[in-house]
Amino acid sequence: MSMLNVGRPTQPQAGASVAVSSLTGARGLMQDEALIFELGGWDKTGVDLEPAELDASDLAGLTRTAPIGLPGLSEPETVRHYVRLSQKNHAIDLALYPLGSCTMKHNPRLNEKAARLPGFADLHPLAPVSTTQGALELMDSLAHWLKTLTAMPAVALSPKAGAHGELCGLLTIKAAHEAKGQGHRRTVLVPTSAHGTNPATAAFVGYDVTEIAQTPDGRVDLTDLAAKLSPDVAAIMVTNPNTCGLFERDIIEIAKLTHAAGAYFYCDGANFNAIVGRVRPGDLGVDAMHINLHKTFSTPHGGGGPGAGPVVLSEALAPFAPAPWVVSGHEGFKLVEDCVDEAAQGFGRMVAFQGQMGMFVRAYAYMLSHGSDGLRQVAEDAVLNANYIKARLSGAMSPAFPDGPCMHEALFDDAWLEGTGVTTLDFAKAMIDEGFHPMTMYFPLVVHGAMLIEPTETESKQELDRFCDALLALAEAAKAGDGDRFKGAPYLAPMRRLDETLAARKPKLTWRPEPTTVAPAPLAAE
Ligand SMILES: *Cc1c(COP(=O)(O)O)cnc(C)c1O
Repeated sequence: MSMLNVGRPTQPQAGASVAVSSLTGARGLMQDEALIFELGGWDKTGVDLEPAELDASDLAGLTRTAPIGLPGLSEPETVRHYVRLSQKNHAIDLALYPLGSCTMKHNPRLNEKAARLPGFADLHPLAPVSTTQGALELMDSLAHWLKTLTAMPAVALSPKAGAHGELCGLLTIKAAHEAKGQGHRRTVLVPTSAHGTNPATAAFVGYDVTEIAQTPDGRVDLTDLAAKLSPDVAAIMVTNPNTCGLFERDIIEIAKLTHAAGAYFYCDGANFNAIVGRVRPGDLGVDAMHINLHKTFSTPHGGGGPGAGPVVLSEALAPFAPAPWVVSGHEGFKLVEDCVDEAAQGFGRMVAFQGQMGMFVRAYAYMLSHGSDGLRQVAEDAVLNANYIKARLSGAMSPAFPDGPCMHEALFDDAWLEGTGVTTLDFAKAMIDEGFHPMTMYFPLVVHGAMLIEPTETESKQELDRFCDALLALAEAAKAGDGDRFKGAPYLAPMRRLDETLAARKPKLTWRPEPTTVAPAPLAAE
C-alpha cells in the first residue's frame, strides 16, 4: 500500500467476492485522494504575490514571524483536488437520497437562479429599508403564503433551522404562560417516537421532559397523554405526520386534551411536505409549528445548512413572537426591530438580522412555480412514492406498521434479518456498494433496527424501481447467507467501514506533519 493510502485502504477483505483492487488504490477513473497538506510540496503556489510591505506598527507585536504553513499546490493541482473530493461526496444531484425524516429532494434550478439575483444575493442586512423594499416585500409575501398554507395568523421567519424553530416556538410558549401568570409550568410532553431535537429543545429552554407512550400502531397513546397532562404541563410537542411516517389520527383530540389542561400544542412540522396543500395545521388546533423551508420547500440542506425554520403561531401565541417582522404601510414596507410599544410582548430576538434571505427567495420561488395545485401534488406524490416503496419491499423486508398506508416515508424494522447474522448497519453499508446512499438507520428509536426510507416526490418510478431492485437483491443475498457481502461493506466506496463511534467521540480535527513530511518550518499559530 502506498503512502497516500494510509488510512484509506481500498483492498477488499480477504474472501470477499465483490471487489478487485487496483495497484494505486484508485478505482476506474476515480483517483484516491490525500489531504491537501499531504499533496505536493511547500514550494509551489497558485498565485504570485508581491512581498508585502509590512507596516508592523498597527499589529501590536502580532506580526507573523514563522511561515503560515499553507500547502503549496499549483492552480490545476488545487482545482483537481477539490473536484476529486466533490466526486466522492454523495449528492441529491447524483442519485436518490432516501434519508427518512430529512426530506432530501431535488432543488429546482429556478430557485437558485432567483436566489442569485444581485438584488437579493448582494443585500446587506444593515442596508436602509428604503433600499430593500423588494426584499421586504418578498419576506412579507412568503409570510403570507406560509400563514395561508397553515391557516395560522402569524409567522416568525427568522429561525435558521428546524431545531432553531422549535426553540423559537417554546420560547414563545414560555412567554405566553408567563404573561398569564402560568410561568410555574415546568413540563413538556414528548412522544417516544419524537425527533431528538424535540426533547433537546425542551431541555434547553429549561423544561423537564416527560415521554408519552405510543400505541402498537405507532400513534400517540391518548390514555397515557391524558394521564400525564396536568397543571404543570406547559406544552406537548407532537410531530405530524410522525417519525414513523404515520398520520396522527387523533390529532384533534390531542389538541383538545392539551388545551383543556391549559397547555399549548407545539407541532413539529418538519414533515409538512407530506400534507402541504391538503391539511392546514391551524384547523387541527396547533398553536405553534416550525416549517423546514429546506425540506418542504426544497431549498438545499447539505453539510448542516443553511436552512430556515419559520414558525407559524396561533392567535394565542402571536403577540409573543420574536422580532423582527415585516409590516406594510402607506410608506411601503418596514421592519419591526424591537420588542417595544405594540410589540412589547414579543420575547426578544432569535438572530442578529432578519433570517436566511437566500432560503426565503428559494422557498418563495418554489411556491410560486408550483401554485396551489402543484403544492398539493407535492404532498400526494411524496405519499404515493413512499407507499410504492412500502408495497414493493414488504414481501422481502418487514414493515414496522404493516396495516394501512404510510405517509411520506416507509418504515421497516429488522425482524426480517433475524437469523441471517446481518444487522441494519451491515445492510445499509452494503447499499453503498450497490450505488445507493443508505436510508436513515436506527431511528425512530421505538422501532427495532429501524430503516426509515423517504423517497420524496421528486423521484420517478424508474428511480424508485432501481432502488427497490437493489434492496430486494440485497435482501435475497442476506437471506441466502452471503454474510461476507455485508460484514465488511462497503468494499467499493472511497472509505471502508469506519469506526463511527471513535470518529464521533475522538474526532481528529487538525493535521500535523508526519515525521516523513518535511514542512519548511514549524507551523505558526498552532
Ligand atoms: C429535520 C427534522 C428536525 C430538525 O430540523 P433541522 O432543520 O435539521 O434543525 C426536527 N424534527 C424532525 C421530525 C425533522 O425531520
